[in-house]
Amino acid sequence: MVVIPSILLNGMPLAYFNNLVAITNGQVVIQAANSPITELTIDSRNKTITQFPLFFAIVGINHNGHDYIEEAYEKGIRQFVVESSYNLSILEKFRDLNILQVIHTVEALQQFMVFYRSKYRLPVLGITGSNGKTIVKEWMHAFLSSKYKTVSNPSSYNSQVGVPLAVSLLQPSHQYAVFEAGITTADTMAKLALLIQPTHGLFTNIGPAHSQGFRDITQKIEEKAQLFAHCSTIYYCKDHQLIDETLLRLYGTQTTFVNWSFYNPKADYLVVREILATKTKLQIIASDTDNTFLTSFQDNASIENITHCLVYLLHNGFDPGQLQRSLLQLKSIPMRITLKAGMHRCQIIDDTYTHELASLRIALDFMQQQHYSYSKQTVILSDIVQSSTPDQELYKELALLLAKYAIHRFIGIGPIISQYATLFSMPQSIFFGTVEDFMQNKPFFQDEVILVKGARTFRLERIVRAIEKKCHGTVLEISMRSIRNNLSYFRAQLAHRTKIMAIVKASAYGNDSEIPAALQRHGVDYFGVAYVDEGIYLRNKGITLPIMVMNPTYDSFDAMVDYQLEPEIYSLELLDELSAFIAERAVQKINIHLKIETGMYRLGIEEGAIDQLLWQLKELPNIHVASIFSHLVGAESKEHDDYSLLQAKKFIKIAQYIERHLAIKPLKHLVNTNGLLRFPQFQFDMVRLGIGLYGVGVDKTIQSHLFPASTLKTIISQVKQVQKGETIGYNRKGITTQDTTIATIPIGYADGFSRLFGCGKGSVVIHDRYCPTIGTICMDMAMIDVTGIKVKRGDEVIIFSAEHSIDELAERIGTISYELLTQISQRVKRMYYT
Ligand SMILES: *Cc1c(COP(=O)(O)O)cnc(C)c1O
Repeated sequence: MVVIPSILLNGMPLAYFNNLVAITNGQVVIQAANSPITELTIDSRNKTITQFPLFFAIVGINHNGHDYIEEAYEKGIRQFVVESSYNLSILEKFRDLNILQVIHTVEALQQFMVFYRSKYRLPVLGITGSNGKTIVKEWMHAFLSSKYKTVSNPSSYNSQVGVPLAVSLLQPSHQYAVFEAGITTADTMAKLALLIQPTHGLFTNIGPAHSQGFRDITQKIEEKAQLFAHCSTIYYCKDHQLIDETLLRLYGTQTTFVNWSFYNPKADYLVVREILATKTKLQIIASDTDNTFLTSFQDNASIENITHCLVYLLHNGFDPGQLQRSLLQLKSIPMRITLKAGMHRCQIIDDTYTHELASLRIALDFMQQQHYSYSKQTVILSDIVQSSTPDQELYKELALLLAKYAIHRFIGIGPIISQYATLFSMPQSIFFGTVEDFMQNKPFFQDEVILVKGARTFRLERIVRAIEKKCHGTVLEISMRSIRNNLSYFRAQLAHRTKIMAIVKASAYGNDSEIPAALQRHGVDYFGVAYVDEGIYLRNKGITLPIMVMNPTYDSFDAMVDYQLEPEIYSLELLDELSAFIAERAVQKINIHLKIETGMYRLGIEEGAIDQLLWQLKELPNIHVASIFSHLVGAESKEHDDYSLLQAKKFIKIAQYIERHLAIKPLKHLVNTNGLLRFPQFQFDMVRLGIGLYGVGVDKTIQSHLFPASTLKTIISQVKQVQKGETIGYNRKGITTQDTTIATIPIGYADGFSRLFGCGKGSVVIHDRYCPTIGTICMDMAMIDVTGIKVKRGDEVIIFSAEHSIDELAERIGTISYELLTQISQRVKRMYYT
């Protein structure tokens, strides 16, 4: 059961207890007072938050609400609706009760809410369909909220009981409502339609299979479409031909239809989708408008869901620019769900983060929408932990849920789920006590879509790893936990109010895409990138925090404004260009960051130019100085401490001068990772952390506090015995001085394994032993001397890891970990571990 959010606290009462008699045809059997009803609940475990909740004792398949009335009373609930079969004498010991008796509590709940709903006049969007309802509803809520105070179903509360509870959240202050409705049998939508009374309707899609409760797909569509009986407008995708035909047949004369299509020019909106490297471009064309949007989603299901939202909102006059901004900020429900390519043409839906029934429903929904091109669906689930429902009931509910989704194969992992094996009635169901058992008897997967979802303690990511498609063998593994730990370490070095700017230039130091979102979740305050494209990339990844761009150019200002990025201003010329730009584009406000030259002589405004700068800034009220900063050149070593101190002094002087003359209080920041470690006294308002977040690149004395986050590894492709005196590789550079075993590994300088590591300068780790390179490094491969070590094809080879320091490896060829990390090429697959 789901907790209904606490928005009734200061709201109007839904009704008074005595009103219920007329509304529900019920009978008051005990009454202490005619109290207001301020909230509805059906589950004694949920916390109520207002003073006068009303408990409906609902009789479900596995659950009888009447059994929980005493418990609810203990928790302070005094008003109840019960069925006539309930034995009232149980309540004799209780005082202050209001009891209404009805024939059927679900019906009474619905009647009450139909009455309540009819008091409101507001635009209500009703959503139904087979898949995507909950996500479209959540996203629509997010979009609409930028303009209207919006209410919608909590979670996936879309059933005969869920919908009335959702409707009870309506308050006079709401300007828009979005309610989804789901049905499993015929003749049930009409009731939900009365409850929702949508003014507009949206049909998401229809699943290919017809399910038990319906005669065929057409009947299913007809039944679902009952929701729209009184809508003025219905929105849908014309590519679902049956939906198109059925809606036209049912409502042809009385209703306006707004439809869209990926290919049919007859649709009201033609949608052209283009999959780019990391995002999708959606061009939405109508007779008189043409708008293009970018989203970081690429899978079919999300694209369909987003298009539904965009078409609806465009059609209702939403500003495309605002839509694009909201689109970037969508906190997608399935954001934690990632789609991965699996072995043997499988697709993996990786949701190994949380596990309860509500989120499982969403994941299953997502799977159904993905699966059209796959004939088989497999679900792998762990035990559900931390549920307050008794196991028996919980797993029964789980099995029922899965049965609804027509799963082909079910794999349960864990001792508890295995106990309830008989509940699961899929064509094939297999159970393993542990992940290790699964690994030892791994089932075969081919041409199927596989949902993997489990409680975190089960670490089902190990299963995902095992069934994932293996690339050319070289991977960069990144431990999110290590990054989190490093962040905590740095935070402990900071004063309470000091902010953290995470520097994620060069694809987060080569570590790539998942890192910024994780850092945002873990509470950094700002992001810093080198180029505008990197900033746009972050926005497309759902980053909503402010982003500073360190190398802005004139032609990037447009994108800066569109994506709310904040340029570093390092010269008067650049400021001139910016001011010309904002005048031309009539920009209301832009945040900038003043970079002060204090001794690096790279980019920065020199002391002599400061007065001129101030004079200009005073004339530019639309330009807001968000921060003043500079950068230390010698923070890594003690020998430059004097110079660092001079830089700091100069920075303080100039920053204070600017603050005084402009009467502003921007953030001040000076130090990077090593700057903070060496000079914590110069943390000012913010620190800029880069390399340290990855747990490398710091002084040896600090290293033991940090966790190196990245592991670069590969496998052995071939092993050869070579006699003494032969030469290995190009230009015969490697000469065997004895009979030698050579292992060839699929990583070369094009992957980021520098050519400088050749001829024994570099080494790799195989079976815990350092093994030198032999001969030159090739573009895609390298040869390793493994003489005396028992190795075979497929064995793991570590280039660097937490135990085998990248800093030491870098030192061998006279460079630093920053360079090695950022040189790892895009063709090396990244894998993230939590
Ligand atoms: C790259 C960079 C940083 C981060 O430095 P680390 O040594 O990686 O912590 C901080 N500030 C500026 C200006 C940078 O360019």
